[in-house]
Order: sequence, then structure tokens, then C-alpha cells
Amino acid sequence: MTPPGTGTAHPPLPACVMQRCDAHDVSRFMLDRLDTAVWVFDIDAGQVVWANASALNIWAADTLDELRARQMKPGMSPAVARRLAQYQTDFIERDASFSEMWTLYPRGVPRPLRVRFSGIRLSDGRMAMLCEGLDETGQLPEAIRSADALLHTQLMISLHDLDGRTLYCNPAARASFEGSDDLASRFVHADDLRRLLAAIRDAGEISLIAEVYTSKGIRWHELTARSCHDPASGRPSVLVSETDVSELKEAEALAHMRANHDPLTGLPNRLAMPALFERLSRQAERSGARIGVLFIDLDQFKAINDTLGHLQGDAVLMEVSRRLFELRGKDDAVIRLGGDEFLFLATEERTEEGRIEALAGRILERLALPVQAERRKLMVTPSVGIARYPDHGADVQILMRRADLAMYEAKAAGRNQACTYDDGMRNRREDEVALLADLREGLRRGQIVAYYQPRVAPGDGRIVSAEALARWVHPEQGIVAPDVFIPLAEKAGLIAQVGACMMEQAIRQQSLWAKAGFSISVSVNVSVRQLCEADFAGMVQRLLAFYDADPTMLELELTETLLLESNPTVHDNLDQVRALGIRIAIDDFGTGYSNLARLNDMAVDCIKIDRSLISGLPRNEEIVRLVIAMCKFMQVTIVAEGIENQCAADWARANGCHELQGYLYSRPVPVAELEIMLERDRLAAYRRPMPETVD
Ligand code: C2E
Ligand code: CA
Ligand code: CA
Repeated sequence: MTPPGTGTAHPPLPACVMQRCDAHDVSRFMLDRLDTAVWVFDIDAGQVVWANASALNIWAADTLDELRARQMKPGMSPAVARRLAQYQTDFIERDASFSEMWTLYPRGVPRPLRVRFSGIRLSDGRMAMLCEGLDETGQLPEAIRSADALLHTQLMISLHDLDGRTLYCNPAARASFEGSDDLASRFVHADDLRRLLAAIRDAGEISLIAEVYTSKGIRWHELTARSCHDPASGRPSVLVSETDVSELKEAEALAHMRANHDPLTGLPNRLAMPALFERLSRQAERSGARIGVLFIDLDQFKAINDTLGHLQGDAVLMEVSRRLFELRGKDDAVIRLGGDEFLFLATEERTEEGRIEALAGRILERLALPVQAERRKLMVTPSVGIARYPDHGADVQILMRRADLAMYEAKAAGRNQACTYDDGMRNRREDEVALLADLREGLRRGQIVAYYQPRVAPGDGRIVSAEALARWVHPEQGIVAPDVFIPLAEKAGLIAQVGACMMEQAIRQQSLWAKAGFSISVSVNVSVRQLCEADFAGMVQRLLAFYDADPTMLELELTETLLLESNPTVHDNLDQVRALGIRIAIDDFGTGYSNLARLNDMAVDCIKIDRSLISGLPRNEEIVRLVIAMCKFMQVTIVAEGIENQCAADWARANGCHELQGYLYSRPVPVAELEIMLERDRLAAYRRPMPETVD
């Protein structure tokens, strides 16, 4: 058997004609007398292998040999070829037959015809196609119906020549493209037309969704275009059928927009970021520009949210986004990453050297302007970290991490400033990771020890209390200060462990001192994070019981951020420790966001005026006096921290502070050293003349 498609060895006449008829001449005579054109088409070879006289007439062939010699494959569109191949399969598998309107192009002249196709085997066994060109008049109603359908369908159908000139439009297409006489004028994006024509040339057909100009404005159309022949001229042409999919597109665009935008501020969100960066970096690559990745985090935004509520917080975020958006240049993007974090992608062309840093400066300036919120003005400042493409990385995730690292440095350096990434930051971060590993080890090995700094009475300088301050006795680095490892422990979630270790030492020490006859109270610094642990109060209670210590001689030093805390566990813990008789002090008072009403509600026992206020004396006398007046009103113990010289001590004493603490009296020292001071106090008390009221 000849393999299908080779088309070399099939016989000149099909089997039915050659072999199944006994009287060859009779049948040939009959077939030739028929008005119906009958021919056999070898699908594999793309050639007519037999035709009767009517068929020769329709094909405009003088002889059968001449028609057989015609090669039909080269001019055949891929769509027709595919359809014929499908017919061949249908003939083989289910003996199918089809009746269709076809237009033949004998010698390039169109001949519309109703043709019935059915399968017929050639003598070599291959499936060919028997075609009967039927009398058209009998099919008229159907032809009318199909023409009518074309007139009334919503589907837009149009025919164009290969240059895109419009040859025909059905009414739907006409209504949509009024006044347009070529394909080119329809497309909003010339690229879409180029794609369409290239696909017609290369593959014979294409489906695409494109934006087109229509009488209803710009719409989205789904187009299917096929190469075919113009039935009127026989010239190759393009048949386009299309439907309006704008609503679908809009729904899709809306869903896309929702997924990629932050609903509060309308800015693109984290999901949209990679694509935005990709677009800007591609542009930058061409022009040799840089891209600044500015990581912006608002300072202490949580305080605004917590004190004023989320509505006010949202208003601030919207105002901040608006200001950032206004600073945007044409090749920039502003993204809300979430919470109070924003990303500014800024393009710096070669001619704009320094633009990124200048922009960071403008961001700081613009955001520093107070935000008008309901009945009050709020101050928000940002910390900005900058990384640069391509200098600091080509990958957006790496750039973001580096900008974040730089932002973290800006925070550490005191907030409200911008920092540009450098490799040193990465080293510092690596050092930090190593230090953290050491800290875990140090906690297990008991390297966190309490030093004590005395708090003295203003009159006679006698020690009335001691503050426990953590020191890390590092095996290689020596004594590490708490400013280094406490923030690290907070970040790494180790603060509860550090805190528990300090609490244990302080309570034990207080109990030991009490037994040794030194009646001083001990204060311990407690991080708000520790109070978030459900068992905090329970832990303190167990320690007090175990060491048989007096709860009224224990004081917890808490910072003002506590006043902003809404976590109920924190308040449960506070209530419980207060119920035990433990005293509460507010540490570093005067540095943060103070909510006086909350302070009053909390019923604190003691306020420690921050050393920055004390060291500013006497310049800021007014403020400190005001703070003291307020403390007196609240009837709390007033402690002045950071007393470094006699002058400050005298001022604090004269202004009614109850306790003084600072380097003037002593630095924080190990237990043994504090005990020497306590002994000295005891001796001084013996030598002091007895007050007259005592016997
Ligand atoms: P703080 O609670 O305000 O502790 C007072 C800090 O001020 C201590 O620093 C102390 O050495 C220093 N200081 C005392 N008098 C003076 C003075 O006259 N002049 C100056 N310039 N400084 C003075 P230290 O021990 O380095 O502690 C720093 C901070 O670390 C503490 O500030 C506290 O916030 C934190 N911290 C220390 N130990 C612990 C702890 O066990 N738990 C927690 N959560 N935080 C702790
Ligand atoms: Ca303290
Ligand atoms: Ca303090």
C-alpha cells in the first residue's frame, strides 16, 4: 500500500469505476451525461484523480489528464487541509458524508457550489473523497437561510485582502466598524495587527484578544482570523470573525486590579511589585539608569494606631500614601507593602546623578509635615532604607532585603532619617546572628548576671533601693552591655528568658539582703514582651515564695510603651502582680508618647524621670518642673535618673525628687561592691546622732 500523502502510485481511475462496474463503457457514458458534477479527490496527494464531463466543465479543464495534473496542495489554506484530513478520518471511521457550500477556484475563478462529500476507497486501499456538485437551485432555502443567518448574527464577520483592505462586512461588523475600510484602522495597538498578519502568513489562522476602535469606543474583541479566498475575486484573503469580550475583560481587569492593589490607599501592593520592578529595570537597562529601591517604614506608627484607633491610623496611612504618590516621577512607582511599610521605586537617569538621595530627603521633608487628623495634628516620621539597582543587586528580592537592612540601620541610628545600604550592614547583621547564637549559649551557661545601681535618698545619700541591670559576661568579648543584647533578645524572642533569669537573681538577692539586715528594695526592668507571657505573674509569685522574699520590696520598671498596650494578657499580669503588693515604676519617663489619662488609670507607684531630661538641666528646668508637678499630683515616688554631678543632685533635691540615681553615687556594680556600700551606709547610720524623738 502506498503510504498516505505520498501520492505517487495510485491508479488513474478509482476502484469503483474501474472494477466494480461490469460495463465500464456504459457507466462512463452515464456519468458523463449527468448534470451533476462528480469527481474523486485524492486527499493525500491533493489531486483530482477522476472527474465526469460536468466536473471537467466546472473545473474548467479541457481533459481529464489536464485536471489530474493540477497540484491543489500548494494553494490550499491550512484550515482547508485540516478539514479535509478530518473528513478522511470521518469517512474511515464512520462512513460519514457531508453536504456543504464550497467555493472552488478553477484557474483562480470562484465557483460556488453545493457539494456532497463521501468516502471512496482507491484501488490501493487509501481513503479518497467522492464529490458530487449538486444542483444549487434545489438547495435554495438553505442557502437563503445561511445568508440570512450571516445577516442577523451578533458575530462580526468581515473579509479583507492581504493588505488589510476590507472587502466585506456582515451587518454586525458594519455597525461596529462604521467608516473603517481597512483592518489597520481598527486596531488600537499596531502590534496586534502585525501579529495577526504574520500568523495568517505563517500558520493560516490565529485567535487573539485585542483592543479595537469601534462605534461604541475602544472595546476588547476576541478575533479569529483565517486565510481563505475571496469568493468574488478568488484572491487570497483573510476572513475575520469576532465577538465583543469587553465585559469579560473588564471583570478580569477588575479582579486583577483588586488582587494587585491595596484597597485602603489604592496603591499597588506587594503582589504587583515584581512586575513593576521588572518593567522599570528593563527600561533602566536600555538607558543605563539606576533604580533606587527605597524601603519606607513609619516610626512608631503603632503608637498612633493604639492611642487614637485604627480609623485615625488609616487616615494617616492614606495621607502618607498621597504625599509619596505626589513625589513620584514618570518612571517611578509607589507600593504599599503592608501595614506602615511602603516601597518607592525611583529611576535615576545617567543625567540625574544624586536623584535617589535627594528624593529620600524630600520624602523625609514631606512626611514630616503634620497630618491633620480629626481635631488634632499628628506627627509621623519615616525611616528610609535605600538600595540601588544594579549596584546592590539585580534581583528585586535581594534589593528589598538590602533596603530593609538599611532601613533598620536608619531606625537604629535614631529614626527619621535615610540610610543607604553598604556591605558593612550585611556584616553587622551576620555579627548579630553570631552574637545571638552566643546569647542562647550564654543563657544556658549562666553568663547573664545582675549588676546593681543604687538609688539614694536625697537628704543623706543613703541607699534605699537598687536597680538590677543585666550584664552579659561573654567568654571572649568580656562584659557586654544590655543596650547591645537586650534589643537582640527582644527581636529573637529571648527576652522572656533573659527577664526570668534577671528576676530570679533580683528576688534571691533581695531576700539575702533582707536576711543580712539590709532593708532595701530591688527594682527589675521588665520588657512589655515579658508581660505578654500568660505565666509572668505566676512565675514572679513562685520565685517570691521560693526565696521567701517580701513582694513589697520588689519594684518592676516598665516603659511608657506599656501604656499603649492593648493586649489583655499584659493587663491581667499587671493586676496580678499589683495584687501581690509589688510596686510598678514607669521608667525613662518623658521620652515617649505619654497618655496621662492611661498613666493615672494604671495606678503606678513610681515615676523615673529619664536621664535625658535630667542631663538637660537647668536649661529645661521648666519641663522637668512640670513633670515633677504632675508626679506630685499623682502622688507617686519621683526618681531622678542620670544624676552625674552635684548641681543636678541639688536641683533634684530642691525640687522634691524622692530618690536619686546616677554615676555621681555609683555606676551599676556587682553584688559584692554594692554590699560594701551598704555596709558603709550601716556604719554611717550608727555614727549619725540619734533623732531626739527616739529613745
Ligand atoms: P535603664 O533602665 O534606663 O537603666 C539605666 C541605664 O542608665 C543603665 O544603663 C545605667 O548604667 C545608666 N545610667 C545610670 N546612671 C547614669 C548616669 O548618671 N549617666 C549616664 N549616662 N547613664 C547612667 P545600662 O545598665 O547599660 O542599661 C541600659 C538599658 O538596658 C536600661 O536602661 C534598660 O532599659 C535595659 N536593661 C538593662 N537590664 C535589663 C533587664 O534586665 N531587662 C530589661 N528588659 N532591660 C534591661
Ligand atoms: Ca530601668
Ligand atoms: Ca531609665
